[in-house]
Amino acid sequence: MKSGCCEIGDNVYPQDETKLRESWIPGTTQSRHTCCDVKVSGNTSICKGCGNKGIPVEEITLKSLVKEPVLEAIENLDGFYFCESPACEVVYFNNEQQVYLHKEDVKVRVGIKETENPIPVCYCFGWTQERIFEQIKQLGYSTAVKEIGAKVKAKECACDIKNPSGRCCLGNVYNVVKRGMELYRIS
Ligand SMILES: [Zn+2]
Repeated sequence: MKSGCCEIGDNVYPQDETKLRESWIPGTTQSRHTCCDVKVSGNTSICKGCGNKGIPVEEITLKSLVKEPVLEAIENLDGFYFCESPACEVVYFNNEQQVYLHKEDVKVRVGIKETENPIPVCYCFGWTQERIFEQIKQLGYSTAVKEIGAKVKAKECACDIKNPSGRCCLGNVYNVVKRGMELYRIS
């Protein structure tokens, strides 16, 4: 009965329930049974394009940003993840459904994966890397974090439908400003 050992059934787990629970790694779908590793191996959130962990993405984000014909071909919009790796071509993935969406399947440029202008940084208020760098070159600083921060506070943003990650851009904005300051600020 080796092959189906992780299928829950009376004859599979003769142990008591506590033992059964202990044999599962908490927070994963993975079993400690080596004989079952192939069957349930891998975390569902690992991008097969790069091997990094993706972040969960909501249905509303996919509906807003994935091109229609691609979207229509997807059976179920649950359980998708966004890949944040700059060098990886995969934008959204769902390992369970074996669906992998790439840059060309998405309506907007995924700033984090682009190296040529325009590189969007904030999707709600139209900040690009270029605009931030230009500001730093001229002023010695950027108002991006402050301006975007104020608008986020006033709840004027719509990251869930505009940003491919479905999340607030401020962390990325901060990183771009920091890089710009290192590159262009005249000290
Ligand atoms: Zn990836």
